[in-house]
Amino acid sequence: MCDQENINSNEKNVDDEKEIVEKERDEQDYKEYLEFRGEIIDSHCHIHEDVEHIKESLELPFKKMLLMGTTVQDWDRVNKLLESSGNNQDRFIRCFGIHPWFVYQINPPKELLGTTNSENNEVFKIDESWYSTMKEQLLKYPDSLVGEVGIDKVTKVKQIGKNDQESQMAVFSKQISLANELNRLVSLHCVQLHGPLLKYFQDLPIDKFPPKIALHTFGGKPATVVQFSKMAGGKGDRFYFGLSFINLTSSKIEKLIQAIPDDRILIESDQSTPLKAEASIFKLIQKISRSKNWTIQKTIQQTALNALKFISK
Ligand SMILES: [Zn+2]
Repeated sequence: MCDQENINSNEKNVDDEKEIVEKERDEQDYKEYLEFRGEIIDSHCHIHEDVEHIKESLELPFKKMLLMGTTVQDWDRVNKLLESSGNNQDRFIRCFGIHPWFVYQINPPKELLGTTNSENNEVFKIDESWYSTMKEQLLKYPDSLVGEVGIDKVTKVKQIGKNDQESQMAVFSKQISLANELNRLVSLHCVQLHGPLLKYFQDLPIDKFPPKIALHTFGGKPATVVQFSKMAGGKGDRFYFGLSFINLTSSKIEKLIQAIPDDRILIESDQSTPLKAEASIFKLIQKISRSKNWTIQKTIQQTALNALKFISK
């Protein structure tokens, strides 16, 4: 055996050992997860979208799940899941909002007004009926939230191949006013517009604020966490920071987790099917536990406590 082969085989042994240690740790983490998963609060998900798997949604082991409605039609699916849940209604929390990806359906960009939408053969027009329907739903269900709402720099209106921030901002701001008027919490989506979002809330008087705001799948920098959580005039206390599997693809995720105050971090599956919710939330819990140096138990219990504080207004 030549030296190179020796080195290679030593390296292989080290790799094998690492893999075994990793695997044992995963198994240990998973055992702990199974013990405490009944306390998890999934602060942002879309499992109601998977109407083929309502039974699986009802069987998820989590304590509570916040169901984000994203379009007027989607709100019906949120309600449908609740109606199917029988005695377990309090495990699911309804949320009603117009997601920035779908703003074009009710507030199309100027270029599209009067043209036909090939997706549904309807003429593109400003349709303000969503607002009264949303208000109606929020009033009908006093525990419901405003969500998912927000602004997104990346999404494009397919028909024009462009992003339409003007319409997004108009619809977003109407929904924030409604949340303030009805004293409702907000789950907020923001992609690559943290600067403008920060300015929006800095300029918004505190008496126009919703009681609390969860910045879901928070994609800002660690320094941005500080800018939101320390916003002057008591505004900083209103912000929570949600993380999901989407955050795990970032190489800077550990620094971000460490920058989020312990009592403001929320966990979310952000999944559109119950079939993926557990796997994705487990991986996230593991990552938070390693980054914060918490046990799996502590990670579940601390984030559940934060979520309860969040939803208690
Ligand atoms: Zn979402």
